This record gives sequence, structure tokens and C-alpha cells, in this order.
Amino acid sequence: MSEERTLNFLEQIVEEDIANGVNGGRVLTRFPPEPNGYLHIGHAKSICLNFGLAQKYNGKTNLRFDDTNPVTEDTEYVDSIKADIQWLGFNWAQELYASDYFEQIYNFAVQLIKKGLAYVDDSTAEEIAISKGTPTEPGKGTPYRNRSVAENLDLFERMRKGEFKDGEKVLRAKGDLASPNMHMRDPIMYRIKHAHHHRTGDNWCIYPMYDFAHGQSDSIENITHSVCTLEFIPHRPLYNWFIEQLGIFPSHQYEFARLNLTYTVMSKRKLLQLVNEKHVTGWDDPRMPTISGLRRRGYTPASIRAFCERIGVQKRDNMIDVSLLEFCIREELNKTANRVMAVLDPVKLVITNYPADQVEEMTAENNPEDPNSGTRTLPFSNTLYIEREDFMEEPPKKFFRLGPGLVVRLKNAYIIKGEGFEKDADGNITTIYATYFPESKSGGDTTGLNVKGTIHWVSAAHAATVEVRLYDRLFKVEDPGSEEGDFKSYINPDSLQVISNAYVEPSLLKAKPGERFQFLRKGYFCVDTDSTAEKVVFNRTVTLKDTWAKEAKKG
Ligand code: ATP
Ligand code: MG
Repeated sequence: MSEERTLNFLEQIVEEDIANGVNGGRVLTRFPPEPNGYLHIGHAKSICLNFGLAQKYNGKTNLRFDDTNPVTEDTEYVDSIKADIQWLGFNWAQELYASDYFEQIYNFAVQLIKKGLAYVDDSTAEEIAISKGTPTEPGKGTPYRNRSVAENLDLFERMRKGEFKDGEKVLRAKGDLASPNMHMRDPIMYRIKHAHHHRTGDNWCIYPMYDFAHGQSDSIENITHSVCTLEFIPHRPLYNWFIEQLGIFPSHQYEFARLNLTYTVMSKRKLLQLVNEKHVTGWDDPRMPTISGLRRRGYTPASIRAFCERIGVQKRDNMIDVSLLEFCIREELNKTANRVMAVLDPVKLVITNYPADQVEEMTAENNPEDPNSGTRTLPFSNTLYIEREDFMEEPPKKFFRLGPGLVVRLKNAYIIKGEGFEKDADGNITTIYATYFPESKSGGDTTGLNVKGTIHWVSAAHAATVEVRLYDRLFKVEDPGSEEGDFKSYINPDSLQVISNAYVEPSLLKAKPGERFQFLRKGYFCVDTDSTAEKVVFNRTVTLKDTWAKEAKKG
């Protein structure tokens, strides 16, 4: 999007830095995912922001895996994260891993011990918490705070060698126990974890904490603008303190509001629960707010980037309506998706005055929004399928579709008039009978009939049978994460509707996974990866109109 808009606050900061010659005008950002889950739409915002800032100011962006917690991380996640970023349309300058800096970060810790700024503490987690005091009362510290440099160096080395068990010792910074900022009260720098790491294997049994890994990694890479979410504001003084005490490259941290979206959850921990407890079919379930879920649902990279651009960058937490995301894909697909006919809830329609052995090839425009999209042909015959809801036995006034005595146009074909119908023993309509007006063919209609409604159809003998999956919100409430009790008790039980026998025009048999269409009057659909040679499966990406907004207005 190239429309003029005012600079967001991060762009203002970068422009000022460039104007003042900070770092010689160089801009290097990073995107630092922890490989403990798949990326979601919130990460997309961070990706668009970090890569976007660099692109705008001739800079670069590193992809750095923040892999300092061996227990939850996995290479499956690393691979999916890389694929998702590339799919979104961004290229990183370097692929880096915080774990590659373990030796250097260890040496930084030794440096701080030597300066008397870090010590090994044998206290339990509980004792440490108590020794830190409260926000209104300074901490008293633990008995280990005044260990000598020599003793600390020895103990820290033995921690590394694996002489102690998990939790037996930690390395803490010697901060300020009276600081109003609790993060400055001797924060933990290293903990012991005898766990296998997905990259460093069993080389390490001590791992640096976020606060003693993130800023150090930024600095090692000479990151100029380290952008993170608001909850890290209280960590910023510590971020700066470590960098100052170590005298290393002065990266700077800036914070923006994380993206929250209605009717979903965004924490990887919660998304993992949905996957593990099989509330969804996987990380890429089309109902998930993950990038892979949105991709499978039919979202395009451009629509997600447009969404991130539209919501902008804020300094205060807010909740974005998911219908804005839906608006962005609908707007794009309206311009790009070919129109096709698909009948999701079929009922048979017989045109009694059309020759039973005749088949006509009707011409249909692929996309009226795109003059270059061309046309295709559709077989037409005396037996069709139409949508059950397009026929009413006793239609009310202003029902501009089919009923006994009512006329309607069959899209790209003829005008027909409802004549009668047959029902089964349960009272369900099995066949509708109609007559057609031979002079009413689309493009050459000479009847002068004034017909208000147009409905879609497929020829019964030519239609392909496909599976169609319709999705609704995954949760029944706007903010399931903030409701009382288990967020999973707010899952919408009707979030997936499977139609195993929908009829579509024969051209769709050739559709390939990922291809997108507008099913006339039914919404935008894409071919799912579950499709087989026997059966094509379609996902509804989004409806044509925002049905939720309408319902909300009705109240
Ligand atoms: P979670 O709490 O879901 O695990 P996280 O913040 O721990 O998320 P990371 O992998 O550490 O996930 O995030 C990588 C980057 O993406 C971080 O810079 C983080 O600030 C950013 N990010 C994560 N979630 C959001 C969000 N909802 N909106 C914007 N940025 C986000
Ligand atoms: Mg994190």
C-alpha cells in the first residue's frame, strides 16, 4: 500500500536517528521467535513491522531464533517459522540462533562476576522471591550475595560442568535491591537445566534467562532497533544495564502494543492446548489464527500484510475485530478470484420444455471485476441442481427467487418459471418442475421479461461432487482468554460444518490445492490440501458479506 499516511511512532524514531546520524544511519532490526510453536497473526504484525521498518529505511532484518529454553523447543517449529515468514513475502539477512551465542553469553556472565556484578545463589526460588522484598519495601538479599569473586567464578564453572542438580543454584546479577523496578532486584541470569537442546544437544546444562540472552544477542548482532511488545517495558532498564556494564554494542529496545484479535486466542501455550487436545486438527487447522491456518483457509500473503498495515502500530493494548481481517481478504479476492457456480444444498430442478437429449454450452464471464479474466463455458441441460433455499413452496412477497408461478433467471442461461414440485414421504421437496423461455438466453434476451432475481445452478449430469467445509468463529465469546474459567469452555461447537456432497461446475475438477474462487452468492473458497484425485475439498475462506455485523445490528 503506497497511500500517504502519517509516520507511526517507530518510523518517527528511526527517522530521527537517521537524521542525527545514530549508528551512521544504519538500520538493523530482528524478528526473534522462540521456536516453541507455529507463528500466528500477532507474529505477522511483528514481522511486518520489523521487516517493514528495515525495508523503508534501507536496512536489514535478521531472523533470530530465541532458543534459550531447551524444554519446549523443536526443529519442527524452526522449519514452520521460516516457511511462514517467506510465505508472507519477507527475506531475512541472516538466520541466527541465540544458542550459537551460548559460549559468548557465558563469557559475558564471567565478565560480570569478575566485576563483582553477578553471584551464584544457592537459595530456593521461594527464598529468592522473599529476599527481593515487595514493590513498597526494599529486598534484604540472601546470604550468598557477598560471595567472593573467586568463589563465584569457581561455582559458576562447576554449574556449567554439571556438578549440580536442576534448581540447586542460579547465577544472579547484583542489581539494586531497593529499586522500585523489581526486575532490577538481582534478576536471575542463568539457571541449571539438564535437558537436551534441539541444536546444542547435551553441551550445556545451564541456560541464560531471557533478560540475559535477548539484549546480549541484539548487541552481538549490532541490532540498532530492537522492537518488542509492551510487557517488556519494565525489562528495558535491565536490558540497558547489562549492555552498559558489559560495554558492548548499544542496541536499543522499543515497545509497541501486541495484536489481540476477537473470537480467538493468541498465546502459543493456548494454541498448543487446542492442538494437543484435538479441539482442532492441527496447527494449520483453517480455524486457527496461525499463519499456516490462515494460509490453508485461503488467506493470501498480501491480505495479511494489508491487514497489518491497516491496524497500524500502537503504544496501547487494544482488541482488533476479526472482521477487519476478513474484510482485507474479501477485498482482495473480489478483484482476483474467478466466479464459479457451486450448489451446496442441492435440490433437483427439471425443465419440462427443454429437450431431454440436448446439452448447450453457456458462456460465463470469469470475473466481472477483472476485464482480463476471460470467459469459460458451462454445460446446460434439462436437469439441474439449484440451492434448496432458492425455492419456496409458498413464497412471501418480495421473494425474488423460485416458487410456483414465479420467474427467475438462471445465471448465464435462461429465465425459468416455477410450475410444480414433488415431495417424499417426509415432506421434503425432491424435484422442482419449471419451464424455460427459449428467447431469454443471457446476452441475447428478447423476451422483455422483467425478472428481479438471478440464481446459480449446475447441470446434474455434468456436475462434479466435492466436499465443502464451512467455518465459523472458533470461540463463542470475543475474548476467551479473559473470561472466567477454562478458555476452552468457550469453544464454539459449530465452528465447522462439513458438506460432503456439494455439486460444482465441472471446470472445478481441475482445481489445485491453494486455488481460490468465488462460489457465486456463497463466498470465497479455496482448494484444501486434503483434496484427493477422487474428491476435491474446498474451504470457505470468508463469506461474501459480513454476516456477523448484520446480526450484531439486529441485536
Ligand atoms: P506467546 O506468548 O504466544 O508464546 P511470544 O511473544 O512469547 O508469544 P515469541 O516467539 O517470543 O512469542 O515472539 C516473537 C516476536 O513476536 C516477539 O518479538 C513478540 O513480541 C512478537 N509477538 C508475539 N505475539 C505478538 C502479538 N500478539 N502481537 C504482536 N507481536 C507479537
Ligand atoms: Mg516469548
